[in-house]
Amino acid sequence: MSILDWVRRSAELIAAEAERLSRLDAAIGDGDHGHNLDRGFAAAVEALPEHGTPGRALVVAGRTIVSTTGGVSGPLYGMAVRRAGKELGDAGVVDAVRLGAALRGALETVQELGEAQEGEKTMVDALAPAVAAYEQALAAGGDLAECTRAAADAAERGAQATVPMQARKGRASYLGKRSIGHLDPGAVSTALLIRALADLASEHA
Ligand code: ADP
Ligand code: MG
Repeated sequence: MSILDWVRRSAELIAAEAERLSRLDAAIGDGDHGHNLDRGFAAAVEALPEHGTPGRALVVAGRTIVSTTGGVSGPLYGMAVRRAGKELGDAGVVDAVRLGAALRGALETVQELGEAQEGEKTMVDALAPAVAAYEQALAAGGDLAECTRAAADAAERGAQATVPMQARKGRASYLGKRSIGHLDPGAVSTALLIRALADLASEHA
């Protein structure tokens, strides 16, 4: 599976879903989430290096996302992608074990920077169960396609589970109890990004 293809596929999915993501953000935030990410991922695609390792490509993509994506999600996603690239190191091929380390690193970075725990209605509510499901599938002997599918399914369930939560972090937390009853836009976009990974892994299985 090519990591460059993941950046490209993610950008396509985000572009297709930008309106919906921004509409979700309009309900409990300021309505810019989809458009923020669309700008960042489109710029990341443009910045992808033609040569070098997958890890290097992710570091460049992450840095570009940090510098072009508005909102708090920009630095969180950008730094997470950059960290994932660092975890891949100079490996020429992304296998299931390395991708697991990259995902774990991405989660750690999001939590180091954003200080959100599970249950606080953020992207962590999709990413944390995704990483856990990935690691469980890996421990059970799963290949890249199986591990990423488990992660994507868990991320989608995690995003859905944000509906009854009250936001404790970010802009949505200003709404207090009025944030209850809505999907968290960042959890939904995280699920999209992990679905892109699973789709690519299954195509190349
Ligand atoms: P902003 O809130 O600055 O407009 P975005 O709309 O792009 O930024 O992103 C909002 C999303 O960012 C939320 O839906 C949530 O998932 C995520 N988010 C906000 N604060 C945090 C945090 N501290 N940790 C993790 N994710 C967060
Ligand atoms: Mg917003």
